[in-house]
Amino acid sequence: MINENLSRTIQWADEKFHLFADRLKDPLAYGNGHAFHFSAKDNLCSTEFQTRAGSKILEGYRPPFDATAIARLRQAGGLLVGKTAMDEFGFGSFGTNSASVIPRNPFDTSRSCGGSSSGAAATASVLKDHLALGVSTGGSISCPASFCGVIGFTPTYGRVSRWGLIDFGSSLDKIGLLSSSSDLVRKYFPIIAGPDPLDPTSQAQPPLDMGGDIKVVAIPEESLTNLSDEVRSSFEEALTILEDMGMEIRHISMPSLRFALPAYYFLSTAEASTNLARYCGMRIGVLNDNINQSFNDFFSQTRSQEFGDEAKRRILLGTFSRMVGFRDQYYLKALQVRQRIIHEYEKEFRSADAVLTPTMPFVAPRFEEIAHMSPLQLYQADALTVPPNLAGLPHLSLPCGYPGGLPVGMQIAAPHWMEGRLLELADRWGKTFQYRRPEMKA
Ligand code: GLN
Repeated sequence: MINENLSRTIQWADEKFHLFADRLKDPLAYGNGHAFHFSAKDNLCSTEFQTRAGSKILEGYRPPFDATAIARLRQAGGLLVGKTAMDEFGFGSFGTNSASVIPRNPFDTSRSCGGSSSGAAATASVLKDHLALGVSTGGSISCPASFCGVIGFTPTYGRVSRWGLIDFGSSLDKIGLLSSSSDLVRKYFPIIAGPDPLDPTSQAQPPLDMGGDIKVVAIPEESLTNLSDEVRSSFEEALTILEDMGMEIRHISMPSLRFALPAYYFLSTAEASTNLARYCGMRIGVLNDNINQSFNDFFSQTRSQEFGDEAKRRILLGTFSRMVGFRDQYYLKALQVRQRIIHEYEKEFRSADAVLTPTMPFVAPRFEEIAHMSPLQLYQADALTVPPNLAGLPHLSLPCGYPGGLPVGMQIAAPHWMEGRLLELADRWGKTFQYRRPEMKA
């Protein structure tokens, strides 16, 4: 409900945890006729807020339209309370690559919320009965959901229209939901799902089946290496609970998983480097009126001033991997790996209903630890979230432990279009495992 309490909590939480890139100053002014409240990651276009995707280069961009997912939630009676903070264009796993605010973890403000849907996960964690629209390219829903102790649901690629989403990697981007309530996810997922003529990749999808059961769960041994002790023990306890719930746990091997991370970073940066070519200081966002210079100088000036370091790193890497002379070795090879991973999942799904792994190899790190990590170490954190994203599979991160008071998540992937299975499990898990919310101290 939209009431004074919600209004106050949003303001208090935003000041304390830095959740929003932009938000309604007074949600109450929009009346109390709304059925629910929701937020959208800052890379989803909406008419009343700036949409900057966490980047300086989009400063001042006010889209003249709503993303389809936002429009559909509004039609269903939702009030969009704000745009949540994120890593620039979705480039990151910790929320720290941002030109706007850097969200703080509601369980411990010296720690990261995860990324790149950082603000979305933190908002879902502090606001009761809130639905946050997030976006995942290589794990940006699962990762922050795991660090902030909320449900993070990423549908099959193509299930939700990408119209109005600022592209990162067009063959990978998926819009999904974060919330502390599985009921809300279940209720509003069918609203945002479904074909949309404005996004051709959403067109050829089978009808949504909201049922389905998970009886046999496969766990790839490759996903159990390099885990912190806290994550390992929480995950093992979760397996015991799943067995008590009547599930059969099967240990398997998926050898191609170890190539998923490099394949993802080649493919996603190749796509990002072409998608970012449109930001040049002429059409949208920052405008450069210094036009009395050469073509190249003009574009370089805007792009070197306005893109952050990580965006520049990805443009360089992505441009390199698809250049003539290197394309076969990197970009095309990565496409082959992607295909193998899809086949390996398909093979496992012949005898198991879902594939389960921990979501992240460690609990939310402190900002000072992140500052000392190299780009390669930062990328390695995505080892477990990248595979289902490369394969376009629906997946779900559920809280499964709180070692030392910090949330740990487990991630379950289902075959293409089988979202119903995951949402059933979210329901059952929530009735068995006791979720914790962060302490809301002033
Ligand atoms: N952490 C991954 C990356 O930086 C995934 C990001 C995403 O899903 N947007 O590419």
